[in-house]
Amino acid sequence: MRMIMLTDATCKKCGADALCKGTKDEPTIAKVFVRCDECGHDFGMVGTIKKDNVDGPDEISDRSAEMARKRAGA
Ligand SMILES: [Zn+2]
Repeated sequence: MRMIMLTDATCKKCGADALCKGTKDEPTIAKVFVRCDECGHDFGMVGTIKKDNVDGPDEISDRSAEMARKRAGA
């Protein structure tokens, strides 16, 4: 899984702007994972996005970033 560094996302464990998110594609959902590049904390799977409800990869990317900020951000 490719992890992408988020902009404007502060790790709630260490306070560094170093949160990375990755999505794992499954047939009907995309699973969203978050990890901090600074302290190494693995937030694990922070949520899922139902592919039925999105327009395409861009929206999955936007929504997963929002989810990551909400669940792992300070
Ligand atoms: Zn951290």
